[in-house]
Amino acid sequence: MNTTLNRNFHTHTYRCKHASGDVADYCQAALENGLSVLGMSDHTALPDHRWSNVRMEMEELPSYCSAIDQARVDFPELTIIKGMECEYADEYTSFYQDTLLGELQFDYLVGAAHYIPVGNSWKSSFGGIESAADLRTYANYMIQSIESGLFAFMSHPDLFGNSYLSWDQEAIAASQDIFEAASALKVPLEINGLGMRRGKVDTPQGKRNPYPWLPFWEMAADYGIEVVVNSDAHRPEDIVGNMKEAAAIAEKFGLAFADLPLLTKN
Ligand SMILES: [Zn+2]
Ligand SMILES: [Zn+2]
Repeated sequence: MNTTLNRNFHTHTYRCKHASGDVADYCQAALENGLSVLGMSDHTALPDHRWSNVRMEMEELPSYCSAIDQARVDFPELTIIKGMECEYADEYTSFYQDTLLGELQFDYLVGAAHYIPVGNSWKSSFGGIESAADLRTYANYMIQSIESGLFAFMSHPDLFGNSYLSWDQEAIAASQDIFEAASALKVPLEINGLGMRRGKVDTPQGKRNPYPWLPFWEMAADYGIEVVVNSDAHRPEDIVGNMKEAAAIAEKFGLAFADLPLLTKN
């Protein structure tokens, strides 16, 4: 089997409040769908409870870790990688580094820009990246996340395509800056299957998926970007959702699949 399609590193659990199933349900589905590596990467708990409506609570950290430990016993055929999907912020660095990667022995963290920092608060990237200024903020935040060195890869870097509708000079410039940072620091970027399950957005150029945004990935090839293909499953039945289509995008543009060091763990 294609070694890219037998592994998925982006999977959630019920704890984030907008997904269903627990680790064991995803493991079962992973085996039924021929995966040999399953990365769990639920939306991280945060010490200050920011955005707690879409992520696990700090109190749930032990149960998330023990569900993964138990699954490693119950599903020995599967390599289970312990991760979290995280937003970068300076004040979370020690929690990510010392608590998650250190004390709790997480294998990897995924960086994500579900929000962008605007003034003293945060704005959702879903529906919120409409102006050139928002897009510039998004790109700078992505670059800051990449430069933090905390993340094994960045999930859906083209998420801005959900609300920034035209592939114009601003979109090209923002994407170039993201690619330059990712390429310099060798941080892989994710072609995300969930974007193909969300329903199309209406743009001046017609309907398209909010992400993956094809011109973004076409340009990524010019920068030697390495990619990771994931389903971003929020339901066990989506365990390999749209991964084939995501891999086809990489193949179409000649993008190399990243060989994440964490793949050799266990
Ligand atoms: Zn989610
Ligand atoms: Zn996710």
